[in-house]
Amino acid sequence: MELYTIDGGNFLCDGGGIFGGVPKLLWSRQIKADDRNLIKLTMRCLLVVHDDRKILIETGAGTKLSWKFIENNGIENADILIDSIRNAGFTPDEITDVVHTHLHWDHCGGGTIINDKKEVIPTFQNAKYHVTRSHWENAMNPNPREGDAFFSDDLLPIEKAGLLNLIEEECELIPGFEMRIFNGHTPGQIIPIISYKNKKLVYISDLVPLVANIPTKWISAYDLYPVTSMEEKQSFLKEAYDENYILFFEHDIKFECASLKWNEKKGAVLDKTGKLSEFI
Ligand SMILES: [Zn+2]
Repeated sequence: MELYTIDGGNFLCDGGGIFGGVPKLLWSRQIKADDRNLIKLTMRCLLVVHDDRKILIETGAGTKLSWKFIENNGIENADILIDSIRNAGFTPDEITDVVHTHLHWDHCGGGTIINDKKEVIPTFQNAKYHVTRSHWENAMNPNPREGDAFFSDDLLPIEKAGLLNLIEEECELIPGFEMRIFNGHTPGQIIPIISYKNKKLVYISDLVPLVANIPTKWISAYDLYPVTSMEEKQSFLKEAYDENYILFFEHDIKFECASLKWNEKKGAVLDKTGKLSEFI
């Protein structure tokens, strides 16, 4: 098995959004916001290559968004995804599987592109796109609060092309590629756990968006069910500490990976940060 970090571009996000009820006085010691209170996040994807399978986790924001949306959200380098896959030595047509942890625009927009005829088509024509059924059904009929995070252009062309595979329950996509399901951030979020050599790497997605979100109560205001989200994170991070998992961050622009240590009062807390290559 080989692992490649794939660049999906960056965007700006309201600092208060990412840290929910945590006062700015506290979170601003961890991360600097700009004069509009925005902090820069990345959309880091991961390519897992094993035998004949080339599994891409997430696809960034993609290139279909309007200039207004791009400007409002400070999106930069959203077109870098394909170049980054090519730099790793692969073509889009070689991708066999796309795992979208969930379908918020900053996770799945690169899964579709606009062709010469101005049609929206799947970017990865030979891939199956995996999403949980519970999340797909939620995305098709979202509540108004979450509705702004979904774009039908990111979703329907995949289904129309017959490339959608709906995951019913926690399972292995291939041996050593486990898909766990969490429901606090949004119903049916997939968290992949990849066995690599004798280690386990967790693609932590929006269960823990940034290293600064590791403390139990530092949950995002974007989570639909915050108490569920907090309990899921607390129990998963205990498992991650017990099992010595490496966390791989999608959104943390500074820290690609982190490990955990145990604190008697706080439970699992940050131990070390570093690049993927420093951990595996
Ligand atoms: Zn999300």
